[in-house]
Amino acid sequence: MNQLLINPRALDDPQPPAEEAFDSLLEWIFDRGYDEKDVNFEGTALRAAKGFAQLVLPPAAIENEVAKMMQKRFPTRSDGMVLCKHNICFSLCPHHLLPVIYRVSVAYIPEEHVIGISKLSRLTWLLSRRPTLQEDLTADLADVLYANDDRPKQYQGLKTKGSAVYVEGLHLCMAARGIESAEARVSTQELRGIFLTQPATRQEFVDAVTRNAPALIP
Ligand SMILES: [Zn+2]
Repeated sequence: MNQLLINPRALDDPQPPAEEAFDSLLEWIFDRGYDEKDVNFEGTALRAAKGFAQLVLPPAAIENEVAKMMQKRFPTRSDGMVLCKHNICFSLCPHHLLPVIYRVSVAYIPEEHVIGISKLSRLTWLLSRRPTLQEDLTADLADVLYANDDRPKQYQGLKTKGSAVYVEGLHLCMAARGIESAEARVSTQELRGIFLTQPATRQEFVDAVTRNAPALIP
């Protein structure tokens, strides 16, 4: 059956989920004193492995999908800002393997072409589902929407006049362990092209994504 019929965001993932890894983790939990006969643990290793796999999409699949999206361009007369703000995305911190909740806003100024507007949300979803730093997620998104210079880039991109990305993160590694700073939100920003050279354009973007923004988990 076509996976797209089940979940429009799903990607082909040929790899089986890492059930054995979660079996080992459960062994450790039982060694700690929890009851291995508790029926709530039945099937947990496979369920947990499937869930984890959704946060670690295969990099080649992400690359292909981004390339496909960038090839499907449409001509436009517009040179106004295209902004897709407040996308809630889930990710994994590479330092602690704990989830991160992001709110991601991306913008660009077209240069003759645009991509479909829903593709901006899909892009934020795709690039979030990796064990990657918030700083690098922000930079990768900005690079995909500004493929105008020769700097090496991880993903195929769209030629635009400039791009801007603003990300706020609630990191469970900061909130639920270590410093236990559950109230802290980490924000990162990356600007390319016209957003760097025109302060008014940058300000318009920052105002649009920060003014009256709902709380990212109050
Ligand atoms: Zn972390």
